[in-house]
Amino acid sequence: MNSWHILTASVTIGLISEVVYYSYKKKYPQRLSSFILSLFTSEASDQRLISKLSPPKYFYKVLFFPDEDYPCKFYAWKGGCKLPICNFPHVETSFKLFGDYLYSARSSLDVCVYTITSLVLCEIILDVHKSGTPVRVIIDDESDNFEGSLLKKFRENGVKLRTDKSSFLMHHKFVIIDKETVMNGSFNWTRNAITANNENVFITNNPEVVKPYMEEFEKLWRYFEPNSRLYMKRCGYHSDRQ
Ligand SMILES: [Zn+2]
Repeated sequence: MNSWHILTASVTIGLISEVVYYSYKKKYPQRLSSFILSLFTSEASDQRLISKLSPPKYFYKVLFFPDEDYPCKFYAWKGGCKLPICNFPHVETSFKLFGDYLYSARSSLDVCVYTITSLVLCEIILDVHKSGTPVRVIIDDESDNFEGSLLKKFRENGVKLRTDKSSFLMHHKFVIIDKETVMNGSFNWTRNAITANNENVFITNNPEVVKPYMEEFEKLWRYFEPNSRLYMKRCGYHSDRQ
């Protein structure tokens, strides 16, 4: 075997190993990380090292309130503020991020919250609805009577809306975006919750968390369908919970 044969064989083996490596990496990234670790360390079972090489694709975020003020909505969500003098802050706030997630909805926005009296949040919901994203809102019927309730605006604009029609509270405060991300916490959709109260909102796209919220939303959506058998038996529904 001359040097030409040796060179050809080396190049061929190199190419084959590259193809095998990238094919395997694409299909089994976690397994490949473990294999590589096992070559260089006796701590191959150390999941912390493995997770550094293949970080989980899910995120977890917590927002705390109050913010000092509402952010400027033009700065936050309308492509920039052109006002020569603007009375609202041009800064990243918890509420700006909360709104970013709502505006990110493309295939669905399912809101399940005790009350909505924040005009800015109402506008965001209507913007998402008008953009063509299907929006559903579940809310406590008592909030219909609150001063500043904005349910009338939802109805006028054709947003799908259901209420519990019960003396008990529909006290959830969560929203599901594109059936992939959930935001939940102590946060009612009021001005005080944004700029005065101590509140928290937890956000994640981990399906183990999102899925039960989706199931709860669908269950309540069925329960609160007007004139349905379940709806008429709502008192039984509440006794089930005791
Ligand atoms: Zn501004």
